[in-house]
Amino acid sequence: MFTVVLDAGHGGHDPGAVNVSRGLRESDMALDVMLRARDLLATDCKVVMTRVDDRFLPLRERPAIANSVDADLFVSGHFNSGDSGATASSFEGFTTRGQNESDKACEMWIKHHGKLFPEQKLRSDRSDGDSDKEMGLAVLRPTKCPAYLCEFEFIHTEHGADLIESDSNRQKMALGVARAVAQYGGFTLAYDRASEGALERLMEDLELTDDKISINRGPGDLVRHEALPDVMTIKRAKVDADVVLKRAHAMMWQLEQLINEIK
Ligand SMILES: [Zn+2]
Repeated sequence: MFTVVLDAGHGGHDPGAVNVSRGLRESDMALDVMLRARDLLATDCKVVMTRVDDRFLPLRERPAIANSVDADLFVSGHFNSGDSGATASSFEGFTTRGQNESDKACEMWIKHHGKLFPEQKLRSDRSDGDSDKEMGLAVLRPTKCPAYLCEFEFIHTEHGADLIESDSNRQKMALGVARAVAQYGGFTLAYDRASEGALERLMEDLELTDDKISINRGPGDLVRHEALPDVMTIKRAKVDADVVLKRAHAMMWQLEQLINEIK
């Protein structure tokens, strides 16, 4: 089975980049995104986390975990700091120097993330023919498997913080990671399999009123989920509430895409 190691940058006494006024720490946000990515991937491959809580892990231990489980891919998740003075909403991917499988895998992530965040700029270095940047990063260099590092967005800017603070944006970041891992591993995410056709199925049951979108699934309790907008209510049928919520998430996602296209 394909094994991916997901690494949430920093942790413990090392919070990484911090936006003090907004109370955002890179270590927390990276962990949140990578845990979401784990959940998206867990059905289809083996996922090993370097950390699942707020603890310090020396840099060298992270690739060592990948090597110890004989991983097929190592992905490290980070948020950018303002050291460079740059402020434009942007993302970037890093690999170690030279052209190899890591570049191929990182390119997949850049493509998937870019599709999900068309408003973000890709900070790239195309001098070597691909769009990732290359550096001798200590967290990537020692892995025996392909490895790359994602910088999802700047945490120190106002618009960066706005973007990062949103649960649905962090879910999208996780989806970008998960889709890229799946593509590299040669499988389709359970999430994407479930989404196929979900819109059509749900459109049949959609009921639009002035202030409400309802999904009629027959009589039953109303189910409301905090992650869904207030206008969204779901009538629960015989199906398990979790299934309804998963479908609703998939549908909200598709609706968002449609709305973006219309805009
Ligand atoms: Zn970092």
